[in-house]
Amino acid sequence: QPEHSEITTCAYCGVGCTFKAEMRGEEVVRMVPWKDGKANHGHSCIKGRFAYGYAHHGDRILDPMIRESIDQPWRVVSWDEALTFAADRLNAVQAKYGKGSVGAITSSRCSNEETYLVQKLVRAGFGNNNVDTCARVCHSPTGYGLNQAFGTSAGTQDFDSVDEADVILVIGANPTDAHPVFGSRMKARLREGARLIVVDPRRIDLVKSPHVQADYHLALKPGTNVAMVTALAHVIVKEGLVNESFVRHRCDWDEFQAWAEFVALDRNSPEALESVTGVPAADVRAAARLYATGGNAAIYYGLGVTEHAQGSTTVMGIANLAMATGNLGRRGVGVNPLRGQNNVQGSCDMGSFPHELPGYQHISGAAAREVFEADWGVKLDPEPGLRIPNMFDAAIEGRFKGLYLQGEDILQSDPDTRHVSAALENMEIVIVQDLFLVESAHYAHVFLPGSSFLEKDGTFTNAERRIQRIRKVMTPKNGYGDWEITQLLAKKLGMGWNYHNPSEIMDEIARLTPSFRNVSYEKLDEVGSVQWPCNDDAPDGMPIMHIEGFARGKGKFVITEYVPTDEKVGPRFPLLLTTGRILSQYNVGAQTRRTENSRWHEEDVLEIHPHDAEERGVLHGDWVKVASRAGETTLRAQITDRVAPGVVYTTFHHPLCNTNVVTTDNSDWATNCPEYKVTAVQIAKSNGP
Ligand code: SF4
Repeated sequence: QPEHSEITTCAYCGVGCTFKAEMRGEEVVRMVPWKDGKANHGHSCIKGRFAYGYAHHGDRILDPMIRESIDQPWRVVSWDEALTFAADRLNAVQAKYGKGSVGAITSSRCSNEETYLVQKLVRAGFGNNNVDTCARVCHSPTGYGLNQAFGTSAGTQDFDSVDEADVILVIGANPTDAHPVFGSRMKARLREGARLIVVDPRRIDLVKSPHVQADYHLALKPGTNVAMVTALAHVIVKEGLVNESFVRHRCDWDEFQAWAEFVALDRNSPEALESVTGVPAADVRAAARLYATGGNAAIYYGLGVTEHAQGSTTVMGIANLAMATGNLGRRGVGVNPLRGQNNVQGSCDMGSFPHELPGYQHISGAAAREVFEADWGVKLDPEPGLRIPNMFDAAIEGRFKGLYLQGEDILQSDPDTRHVSAALENMEIVIVQDLFLVESAHYAHVFLPGSSFLEKDGTFTNAERRIQRIRKVMTPKNGYGDWEITQLLAKKLGMGWNYHNPSEIMDEIARLTPSFRNVSYEKLDEVGSVQWPCNDDAPDGMPIMHIEGFARGKGKFVITEYVPTDEKVGPRFPLLLTTGRILSQYNVGAQTRRTENSRWHEEDVLEIHPHDAEERGVLHGDWVKVASRAGETTLRAQITDRVAPGVVYTTFHHPLCNTNVVTTDNSDWATNCPEYKVTAVQIAKSNGP
């Protein structure tokens, strides 16, 4: 029987389910989905239920460790010695190579308060803007694209809104695996009669599962999203399906006209683009008509949109579709990015991009900078810092020598692993703060043991901009919450921080961030959660945005010219590899592989169409070598017609297979988000790894 319990929030995906953590002493005995949770209404998936397993796992490193160089064994030391070592090395590197030679990467698994402190440490302590977040490699095109179109880097709706959708358009997302609680909710709405369009190269479960069947599955070739959204727009414009009243009142009319002229060109018709997308023009036409005329139409999209060379363009193309048809500003409609990790939205909100202060205030803006300078008592660098891929390039060139990694395993998560390891190897101080000796720790000089979400207070912000509390239910096994470790490092670097608890950090965030002005722990404890903006204009938050007008004023239509990716099939690499997640695992699996979830998934496999398998003499369960221009890995073959001929698919949950050995350095033109979803590969039967 539990002795006590606390309400807290799941630390896996962007749904943000709340749970009652039932405790016996310092042990979590059960995680019970919380019936009053506004994102999950008492539901959960198997990841969240068993998440506490990794907090108690024996692999956790609980003592700080240091080593002079990466070929030496680790030495367990006191916190004081580890932090002094880290600070001395950072100072020495900056003295030798310059202020801009160090930086930090924070994680969307961390809390808002932790992320805020890391960017403050970089800006106020390191004296540069070399801070980035793993949102760089997932939803940075969402931040860019939605900001261009609407003026805010966030989804437009709350989850509850789906209950009033008549048409659901899912693009590049697999909600039943990656966002299971919301995926189930979407299915419930579909069972009530909502119509469904799926745009995805792979036959995801939503396309056909018990009681749910998509009206249209537009199984496009990987890398052709922009052609697809432009073809859909072509039909809407040419067949007179534009909501002219909405566009005239709410959007820039001149920009709309230029866009309409562009999409109406013959070369943008579904027929002209059929050879590009591989999707029959008749299906594209029918899907466009359904989206434009089927009542309330809501778009949900995921990393299958963003992780492309034209990720930002597709996001803006999606926004164009919603504006052209007036599907914004009320329940049941909208543009809804399904954020991957628990706090992708929050890590972006908290200023962890190299060009933005908290609240998306550009670092080059003197007025915004002055507010932070006055509060922090420092002068800030107005130049944007290095993005994650730029840090790697600079490290290989010998210009970037020190990295503080908080909760992010770049060696497994980022593309082109060989490039990442070469960059890490070239650094003189790598500090890894994590729960386990993750892959990146092979290149670390300092290991600072991190704490799990059960061991600290804080907040996460989910995909619907909902700010929710996490609560400390057990004493940190390592001695400190992650925010305290960052504060200790800052103190060693001479900064006079003196936060007593994360609530004080949130008060500072609210003071300096207009969209968070009315957020406090008192308020969150009182009302449960709020959706930003939460300020004098919206004292209780804002479930649905852009009701009267867009945050930027008039909505902006952007011309979306399709540019083929450089990653092309050819005789050497004749197949296209795309990637995704499965239900039981989360991202690189550092946590889920250390829970009960490992029962349901032991290895990543390569899905391959029967024709492609037969051509290569590959049988179900055979080992196959997958090679690209970046590298090669070995996976077991799973023969299935879920994928089309010419396309192969895998997940990225296991370090042994490390899918990112083969993904390349291609990235989104606007944000450098890697093109994980398109890699030209060859496969051949193999004897195993
Ligand atoms: Fe909810 Fe996502 Fe956690 Fe599953 S992983 S319990 S859907 S927040």
